[in-house]
Amino acid sequence: MKKKKNISSVAAERLCNTCGSCYGICPTQAIDYQETSGGYYLPVVDEKACTHCGLCFDVCPGVHFGDTLISQMPVDPFTGVVLDAFVGKATDKKVFDNSQSGGIVTALLSHSLETGRIKGAVIVSMESGSPPRPIVRIARSVSELYVAQKSKYCPVPLLGFFRELKEIDGPVAVVCTPCQLHGLHNVLDKMPKLQNKIAFTVGLVCDRVLTYAALDYLLSKARSDKSVPSILHFRDKAVSSYPGDVHVLSKNGRSVIMPAATRMRIKDYFTPARCRICFDKMNVFSDITVGDPHGLDGIDQRHGESMVLVRTEKGRKIFNYTKDKKVIDVRTIAYEQVFQGQGIDKKRQQWAGYVLAWKKQGRELPNYCDMVENHTPIPAEMKKYLQDLKSSFNQDNFLSRDELIIYVEASLKKKQLIKTLLFPARFSKRVISKLSFLISNYWNSSPSSTHGKR
Ligand SMILES: Cc1cc2nc3c(=O)[nH]c(=O)nc-3n(C[C@H](O)[C@H](O)[C@H](O)COP(=O)(O)OP(=O)(O)OC[C@H]3O[C@@H](n4cnc5c(N)ncnc54)[C@H](O)[C@@H]3O)c2cc1C
Repeated sequence: MKKKKNISSVAAERLCNTCGSCYGICPTQAIDYQETSGGYYLPVVDEKACTHCGLCFDVCPGVHFGDTLISQMPVDPFTGVVLDAFVGKATDKKVFDNSQSGGIVTALLSHSLETGRIKGAVIVSMESGSPPRPIVRIARSVSELYVAQKSKYCPVPLLGFFRELKEIDGPVAVVCTPCQLHGLHNVLDKMPKLQNKIAFTVGLVCDRVLTYAALDYLLSKARSDKSVPSILHFRDKAVSSYPGDVHVLSKNGRSVIMPAATRMRIKDYFTPARCRICFDKMNVFSDITVGDPHGLDGIDQRHGESMVLVRTEKGRKIFNYTKDKKVIDVRTIAYEQVFQGQGIDKKRQQWAGYVLAWKKQGRELPNYCDMVENHTPIPAEMKKYLQDLKSSFNQDNFLSRDELIIYVEASLKKKQLIKTLLFPARFSKRVISKLSFLISNYWNSSPSSTHGKR
């Protein structure tokens, strides 16, 4: 039999988005994941166990969209189809207080579990460790859902759950980022019998993840003792008001809270290359999309809320059922406001820029790129896009994780120094212009001073 291509080349080209589809589908379990020095989490094939059946490559959404994704590609892939749009929160205080934004994801799952609509929910929890890392499991009880609340803004091979799925006697709900959902559809194309084991999908809005090196950078900023296991929450609204600060909790009881800005300013340093060429921030292939309520009016800015886009009839049924039972408390919103608040016009432009930059580097693009209708003109200034991509690819050129972290810290300090040096100049410029305005006003409006003294 002819040997088929496996996933190794996808990992080498950094086209992998760590969705876990290859790991979940491999019939001989020949695939595992390994961290690179730059913090990527990539599949590694045991060539002795690999039978070269090609399944892992065929389902990989890093390089191609299969039949379902191609046939369901929306007219506007950046926004997708919206049946209804809402904003609101879980009515259970425990779920709401422990949530990332408004707890609607967990409320949908817990109600579906309690009413027997699903037998399990695929979730991701942050496991205590040194360093802490996310883990995937199929929750069978509501208490397991609480542990998994809050967003893990890092790579998660979610579709590894397929290995566990056969143990579940009934359908499951899947909470996923867009790339994980792309992988899910590709796997179901190859294994249509599993379709009826997926009850519904909840897609999280996702602009990008950050590599594991970002997690380690934040731990180093918290001065975590590497020998003591800890947990990291990227955003914890329980320790500061919504959207929440970075929170590191160590097994020895030590708790460190760092301002949200600490996470925000490292984003560009730790963005995986593959995230740059994803158009699907709004998770357009899901049944229900959930995200933060950016740009919406009348939001509870202190405690947070979840924004919801209902995308399919199946999603509508599940959502309305949960709403009618008062498990969630929501109000209708205009979906146009959602796309404005999520910066979708900027996303269109960035996507065009990064796709061109990717091409300019002589790299192969995923097959869907030609199908994405994007009426935004290609940006004239390409410098930033090329630089960002190069920086993402170069992360693995550092000899160690520590070396990369030291480089990022030094670069941030340099930026801060430049800002500080420029600030007094900007400040005095503003003061001088204000003073000259006041003087000229005084001069012109005071006849005695202007004319009398002259
Ligand atoms: C990587 C990532 C990027 C995001 N980017 C944006 C953004 O740019 N704009 C925006 O508006 N919203 C974004 N979100 C969504 C937002 O952070 C919240 O997850 C969403 O509002 C739901 O909040 P909730 O309170 O309803 O969920 P909760 O009740 O807190 O439940 C969270 C659920 O998310 C699941 N989960 C957490 N991390 C992951 C992961 N990495 N992969 C798969 N499942 C996961 C958990 O298992 C849990 O079921 C992002 C989320 C993630 C994971």
